[in-house]
Amino acid sequence: MKTIGLLGGMSWESTTDYYRLINETVKQELGGLHSAKCLLYSVDFAEIEKYQFANQWDESARVLGEAGRSLERAGADYIVICTNTMHKIVDQIQAQVKIPILHIADVTAQALKQQKIDRVGLLGTKFTMEEDFYKKRLIEQGIKVVIPDHGECEKISAIIYDELCLGQIKEDSKQFYLKVVDELHQQGAQGVILGCTEIGELIQQKDTTVHLFDTTRLHAVKAAELAIDK
Ligand code: GLU
Repeated sequence: MKTIGLLGGMSWESTTDYYRLINETVKQELGGLHSAKCLLYSVDFAEIEKYQFANQWDESARVLGEAGRSLERAGADYIVICTNTMHKIVDQIQAQVKIPILHIADVTAQALKQQKIDRVGLLGTKFTMEEDFYKKRLIEQGIKVVIPDHGECEKISAIIYDELCLGQIKEDSKQFYLKVVDELHQQGAQGVILGCTEIGELIQQKDTTVHLFDTTRLHAVKAAELAIDK
């Protein structure tokens, strides 16, 4: 079994989901007492969030690059960055380690293609929705991406930082997200990507008939499957 290197803490609320999903997948596949071999480097999210909003992405690349090197030195075979947003600097992190990084958008694109979806809605932080780094990766793989309007992007993003990353689940935020999911569907999206690793705590497939793609689940399950060579 390979050793997974988790680069987490962004926020720790969703990193715990990764840990559980990875172990559940290994247990389901191998049975008995099998569990995942993994290492976790969990950062202080307050530091990362400060760099995000100050537009100091090079500083966060320095912190996450050092964390990635620690995982590599400790014996990780590959790295899983447990956040969509910080894939903005995935190339800078990759340049600091020799082991590969399992890109969250590639795993998501693969799941979309399996479902024959080529037009999808995207929810996430304002960085993920409104900047190019994430959408471009999907577009390059033949997938068209629809995002909410600017005002909605701001509100979706604020809920992530002010509530979900603090472990707060509020009914009015849930209803707002579900309304946006419906709007994206009406605009032709055949499914919606939950492109922030905490959103799955707020809305789940049981809440809507629109096909949801939860990046936390997809990324964690793929990480586990790679570890056991499935
Ligand atoms: N976990 C979130 C994501 O998947 C947001 C936190 C962050 O900014 O890293 O994008």
